[in-house]
Amino acid sequence: MLKGREKINCSICNDRIGDFKYEAMPQWNISGFLCSKCYSKKISEYYIKQNPEEKKLK
Ligand SMILES: [Zn+2]
Repeated sequence: MLKGREKINCSICNDRIGDFKYEAMPQWNISGFLCSKCYSKKISEYYIKQNPEEKKLK
């Protein structure tokens, strides 16, 4: 249970995160949480790096 109101800011864009916060993957070397925008950006960058072949599908 949360006590009071936690203010969480995105580790990348520093925007305040609302109800949905995303935990950064350890591989990203980011501590803290991300907003949905930065998270989806990071995750697509990450998968492109992991699977360079998939770029061709775009
Ligand atoms: Zn963000």
